[in-house]
Amino acid sequence: MQLSEKKRPRVMSGMRPTGKIHLGHLVGALQQWVRYCETADPYFEIADLHAYTTSFSDPQSIRDARNDMVIDWLAAGIDPQKCTIYLQSAIPEISELHVLLGMITPLSWLERVPTWKSQIGELGQHIATYGFLGYPLLQLCDIAIFRGERVPVGRDQLAHLEFGREVVRRFNYLYGEGKEILTEPEGTLSDFPEIPGTDGRKMSKSYDNAILIADDETTTAKKVRSMVTDPLKIRRHDAGRPEVCPVFALWKIVNPDHVPWVDRNCRSGELGCVQDKTDFAASLNEFLQPIRERRAEIAKDPRYVERIIDVGSQKARAIAAQTLHDVKRAMKLV
Ligand code: SF4
Repeated sequence: MQLSEKKRPRVMSGMRPTGKIHLGHLVGALQQWVRYCETADPYFEIADLHAYTTSFSDPQSIRDARNDMVIDWLAAGIDPQKCTIYLQSAIPEISELHVLLGMITPLSWLERVPTWKSQIGELGQHIATYGFLGYPLLQLCDIAIFRGERVPVGRDQLAHLEFGREVVRRFNYLYGEGKEILTEPEGTLSDFPEIPGTDGRKMSKSYDNAILIADDETTTAKKVRSMVTDPLKIRRHDAGRPEVCPVFALWKIVNPDHVPWVDRNCRSGELGCVQDKTDFAASLNEFLQPIRERRAEIAKDPRYVERIIDVGSQKARAIAAQTLHDVKRAMKLV
């Protein structure tokens, strides 16, 4: 048992506590995390420092979202006995590594990461801070401090990972003396990399277009009713194009068996958007019901969640301290 556990690859992933978990997280990351609990040695980070890059003016919301997010993780099936759940800010070694790697990271590498410009365009100039520019480097430090080998990512994060791999190669080249001090992480694309939100853009807390696990059934149905569909299907009997419709994209996740029927009847004009959304809302609520029930149960005992985070953070910190020591020794700092 112990031998096979040692061979398991170390996987690192995390989420920012900036609000409640949504359907995109569930199918884009959490379902993959659940599988990692069975096949890997996973480290799951409550990325509270990252949350400050966009929500720095609202620290209380970050604090409030922290435990809520872990409750969602557990409700989605993450087994705390089979992974390490920890708080980023409780591991100061991550921040120290960030400073050290910052010394060897060319500014131009950070400026060319696509999300730097695109996110400022989406969210506004106020997030154009030193911390936000360094976000991909801090992400790398999250991974490198645990010598993470695999990182589940969405397509939009692949550029961050490639940047991180370049920094690791540079570090090992400058200080490794032929040895690999830091590990180059590999990205693993999730099965459903892009989940559309109610407005058709990528589902995201920042865009206010998300369907939350913690929403009640009425709120879910209301959000589904507000979803955009094929803009050319104006009347009920107009022929639709499912391939451009976010409702159709979500059907594929929630009830794949029903997809051929929707496809056929949307294209023929037999199915109207109002009816389809009503059917979809019912199906989605059924899909989320067991998770919501588990969520309500776990939320009854806040100390249970606190304990999981404390124990995980202590374990994570011991590993992080060793990596940081190796890095400082390689840099002749100790
Ligand atoms: S019928 Fe359904 S799949 Fe077709 S456009 Fe309307 S909501 Fe989308």
